[in-house]
Amino acid sequence: VISWRKGPIVPESKTKRAIKAVLSSAVWVLDRGADLARAGRGPQSKAVVLLYHDVADSEVAAFERHVSFLRRRYDVLPLAELHTSASGSRPRVSLTFDDALASFGSNAISVLAQHSTPATLFVPSGLIAASEPGYMTPDAVKALPPYIEVGSHSRLHRRLSTLDDAELGSEVAGSKVELEEMLGRPVSSFAFPFGDTNARVEQHTAASGYDRTYSVRPGTVTQQRHGVPRTTLEPSESLFELRLKADGAYRWMGVLMAARRRFLGHNV
Ligand SMILES: [Zn+2]
Repeated sequence: VISWRKGPIVPESKTKRAIKAVLSSAVWVLDRGADLARAGRGPQSKAVVLLYHDVADSEVAAFERHVSFLRRRYDVLPLAELHTSASGSRPRVSLTFDDALASFGSNAISVLAQHSTPATLFVPSGLIAASEPGYMTPDAVKALPPYIEVGSHSRLHRRLSTLDDAELGSEVAGSKVELEEMLGRPVSSFAFPFGDTNARVEQHTAASGYDRTYSVRPGTVTQQRHGVPRTTLEPSESLFELRLKADGAYRWMGVLMAARRRFLGHNV
């Protein structure tokens, strides 16, 4: 039985969320100060990858508000283009969705289509191939429109740093083969389940031919194509939080997470 998600996800407490939003507002204000200091040369636009999981039936309207807000204020780009796009006057974002939950097919995709918005779906190929309940079906993944990039999210959504080489090969290289056979096209991006990774896992992803790999640490996108930061959010979050996140103001959290990892030897 493959079930990594036992019971509902416990939402982050309101207090914790509010504290993070206040600290991020301070970063946002400092960023605007820096923009002013560059007077005349215009603001330096940032690039940010946002990460959603579930879009529950009750969250479709909220998610639609997110997408329409992003379309008005940002250049919403396909993920691969975010790395090559030039810094323009508008900030740039890409949308990603992890886990290929059934709600992506039933709820998220129609909103994305309505707003002609590209996105990347990171798919745990083994869970999909096994038609696990709660996930998209293989047919639904195959039927995704061309503006939805499919990336790998391993096969079975295990903590990759805990696996031996054979298991790691199956989860990383095996997932690429499985997805490419399912879709009939190349798969070149990989998102680490739980953001869990280390040097050995990264060797496996590079050796398996993935061009780009994605973490779950908030931050802004640079030239770097491996361990690319992503900022997690939920459709229920306010447009205020969405804006702070899409402007990269939560990147201080990524710095803390990286420091904790170095200090404790933990994987984030
Ligand atoms: Zn995941």
